[in-house]
Amino acid sequence: MNEMVLASHNENKIREFRQIFFSQKIISLNQLDFNNEIEETGSTLEENALIKVREVFNFSKKISISDDSGLEIDYLNAEPGVFSARYSGLKSKPIDNIKKVLKNLGNTLERKARFRTVIAYKDDQQEKLFQGIIEGNISKKMRGLGGFGYDPIFVPNGFEMTFAEMKPEVKNSISHRALAIQKLYEFINLK
Ligand code: IMP
Repeated sequence: MNEMVLASHNENKIREFRQIFFSQKIISLNQLDFNNEIEETGSTLEENALIKVREVFNFSKKISISDDSGLEIDYLNAEPGVFSARYSGLKSKPIDNIKKVLKNLGNTLERKARFRTVIAYKDDQQEKLFQGIIEGNISKKMRGLGGFGYDPIFVPNGFEMTFAEMKPEVKNSISHRALAIQKLYEFINLK
């Protein structure tokens, strides 16, 4: 097996998968001329990852993978979770989502949170899910200019810096997504 379709148009994501799967060919949706907007109607990361991987597998008939991630904050009952990208509205910008999180947390000291990634894998015989989690805390203020999404307010356990203050290679070596990709890599290379 040396070819897999990644259910994403996001260049950064595609690059991250390609870095780990350097000897296997990762085909993007652009390369397949797949232009449908897949609606993420699930109520969990797992459901959304499966919705995406099934649609892409049915279209391509090739081994397919997809991923879905979110930030889960204990004090907010695991919100924004599956709504992370659109926490403050359908077309919300990362800064608006961050402001909403900080407002909802107020001055509470209960700021435990985690980033979670679920990767779905599908071939003609099986479907499998792989999970990566990184635990941390939400900072009181935004710090750092790197990364994307909620990076300026997420401080992983064992660090003082937010994800946005870290060098990308450090974040990418410990991130939820890296952990999930690593598990998928081990599964595929042990098959
Ligand atoms: P996706 O499923 O990877 O597209 O992630 C959904 C949303 O979760 C993103 O739009 C971000 O708001 C948030 N998110 C996921 N991963 C990260 C990360 O590594 N840093 C910051 N935010 C993230």
